[in-house]
Amino acid sequence: MKALEVNSISKSYRQGGQLVKAVRGVSLSLKAGEVLAFLGANGAGKTTTIKIIAGLIEPDAGWVNIAGDDPHRNPKALRRLGAVLEGNRNLYWRLTLEENLEYFGILKGLSGSVARRRAKNLLDRFELMDKRQMTVQTLSRGMQQKLAIATALIHNPSLLLLDEPTLGLDVEATQNVKMLVREIAKAGCAILLTTHQLDLAEELSHRVAIIQKGEIVAQASTRELIKRFSSAAYTIEVEGELDLIQLQVVEALGAIVQNNSIIYVRGNQRLYGVLQVLKPLPLLKVKKDGNNLTEIFLQLIRERS
Ligand code: ATP
Repeated sequence: MKALEVNSISKSYRQGGQLVKAVRGVSLSLKAGEVLAFLGANGAGKTTTIKIIAGLIEPDAGWVNIAGDDPHRNPKALRRLGAVLEGNRNLYWRLTLEENLEYFGILKGLSGSVARRRAKNLLDRFELMDKRQMTVQTLSRGMQQKLAIATALIHNPSLLLLDEPTLGLDVEATQNVKMLVREIAKAGCAILLTTHQLDLAEELSHRVAIIQKGEIVAQASTRELIKRFSSAAYTIEVEGELDLIQLQVVEALGAIVQNNSIIYVRGNQRLYGVLQVLKPLPLLKVKKDGNNLTEIFLQLIRERS
């Protein structure tokens, strides 16, 4: 069974007498233990999609299924969902860590004793046990974020909606949260990660879905997407300098030359053309440049606008 299935959902809003199609036929799916990075520029339709998944707004068309149930038809489906959508704002600041966890556990339908047991497990797992009796307001931003994630997991959901989990965190807290996200997925929880931090998405996600103007424009495994878009770009470094003729011919072949000794070239055929021209200069380096998710994202957005 899929942890999440979103099938062709659409949603429009009225804005000053005009109809804005916020989400148009979006389909997504997530297996247990999978991290899907859901990416898009501001206003692309991410929040609307997430709110539909979380049962907060009704879609005009299409349906959602969380581990077997539609949250719009059967609210029980929401018991299989955990969400960290506004980071530490999900928490009660004057309650202790323990109280927050137990309160949200009971709210999600756990008995008092089960909520207490799970709270202890999570405090232990998230290395917050020694802080359990402190109030949330006295914690660092990183600890609050860890607690917000722990709270979303109190009822052991099948799906976790995670929005900008490392926003505003320092380097150490960011590493900490990243590690936790990996562990949570490894333990079988599916994670829908929304972020503008593409390096984070690249590091954590198994798959990527990119939304633009309400439509999914790419959905593939992170590795596959990077491979598909890596258009064989090379950096060549030579010992010594290119002479004027070499420089002119190399540039005529479409390469870019820096400091008369570093050459950037795209495409296999051009690479060998450039290497011919460089002969017999000794080569210090020939390196294939890998595309990253940031470049792919920008390239896709540019191509389609
Ligand atoms: P961001 O990254 O800035 O949060 P987003 O990808 O989450 O953006 P949405 O908030 O889903 O985008 O918005 C998609 C479109 O729908 C935008 O054009 C937005 O102005 C519009 N929209 C969203 N909510 C409403 C609303 N309640 N009423 C009218 N229009 C809305």
